Amino acid sequence: MTSSDGVLLSVRGLKKYFPVVKGVMFKHLLGNVQAVDDINFTVREGQTFGLVGESGCGKTTVSRLILMIEKPTEGVIEFEGKDINKLQGAGLLEYRKRVQPVFQDPYSSLSPRMQVWEIVTEPVIVTEKLNTAKAKERAAQLMETVGLSPYMIDRYPHQFSGGQRQRVAIARALSSNPKFLVLDEPVSALDVSIRAQIMNLLKDLQKQFGLTLFIIAHDLGVVRYMSETICVMYLGHIVEMGPSEKVYSKPLHPYTQALLSSALPYHPDAEKKKLIISGEIPSPLNPPLGCRFHTRCPHVMPHCSGERPVLKEVEPEHYVACYLY
Ligand code: SF4
Repeated sequence: MTSSDGVLLSVRGLKKYFPVVKGVMFKHLLGNVQAVDDINFTVREGQTFGLVGESGCGKTTVSRLILMIEKPTEGVIEFEGKDINKLQGAGLLEYRKRVQPVFQDPYSSLSPRMQVWEIVTEPVIVTEKLNTAKAKERAAQLMETVGLSPYMIDRYPHQFSGGQRQRVAIARALSSNPKFLVLDEPVSALDVSIRAQIMNLLKDLQKQFGLTLFIIAHDLGVVRYMSETICVMYLGHIVEMGPSEKVYSKPLHPYTQALLSSALPYHPDAEKKKLIISGEIPSPLNPPLGCRFHTRCPHVMPHCSGERPVLKEVEPEHYVACYLY
C-alpha cells in the first residue's frame, strides 16, 4: 500500500560500500569505495523522479540497490511501506514483478538467441504458467502497446533497429504489470532522432498505466524533459534535490550550477554563462572529508572540509547540502 502522503518508495540512510582488497593468498583490505554514502529521498506514486550526476557519482548503484541486484551496506529501502531487503517468498516475487528495469543498451540487454515473444514474456512465463500460444498472444498485445507490429513477435533482436529494441525492452518491463520502472540511461545509446520518440512513449505509458518512473541519466536535457523531481548526486552524496523547474531555473549548489552550465540550453536562444569546474572528480576510495565537492568548488570556505554539510530545505521542497545556505 502507498502511504497516506502518496510515497511509494522511501530511501533512508542508504549506504553501499565496496571493499577493495589486495593480494591473492593473503588478502588485506585497502579500503572501501563509498559508492553511495548515507542518502535519503522519497518517490511519490505517479511521479517521475530523475537522478543525475557525472559517471561514478553513485546513481547506477542506487538503481541496482532498488532492483536488489546489490544489497545495501546500511540503510533501508521501503516500497509500499515494506523494507525490500526483508521480503521473502510471495512478497519478494511480487516486488520483482512490480519493479521492473529498462537498461541503457538495448543491444546487450536482449538475448540474441531468443525470439521476441520469449524475451517479452520472460518475466511472467513461469510465474503465470503461460503456454506458447498464450505467451505469444500476450507478447503481441505488448508489442502493440509500445508501438510495434504484433506480427514481429517471431523475430530475433538483430532484426530490429536500436529504437525498436528499446521498445521491446519496455514491452518486456510492462509484461508483469509493474508499478515502478527503473530506467537506467534509457535513451543514451540511441540516435538523437529517436530519443524523443522513446521519451514520449514512456510518458504516454506512464499516463496509461499509472506508472511511477525512476530515471537515471547524465543528460540533463533528458531528465528535465521527463522528471518532476530532480536529485543531483556527487561522489555518493546527494547535493541538491527539488522540483525540476526550480532546480533548473535557480540551481543552488555550486556543483549543480556547473553541471547545468555545461548542458545544452533548453531553448537555442537562451543565454548561458559556462562555469568550468577545475580538477578531476576525486576517488570514491578516499573521498574528501566534509563537503566532497570542496576540492573543486569555486566558493570553498575553510570549514567546508570539516563537517559534511547536511541536506536542508532552503525553499519549499528545494533541498541543498552546502554551507552557502
Ligand atoms: Fe562549495 Fe563549501 Fe558549498 Fe561545498 S559546502 S559546495 S565547498 S561552498
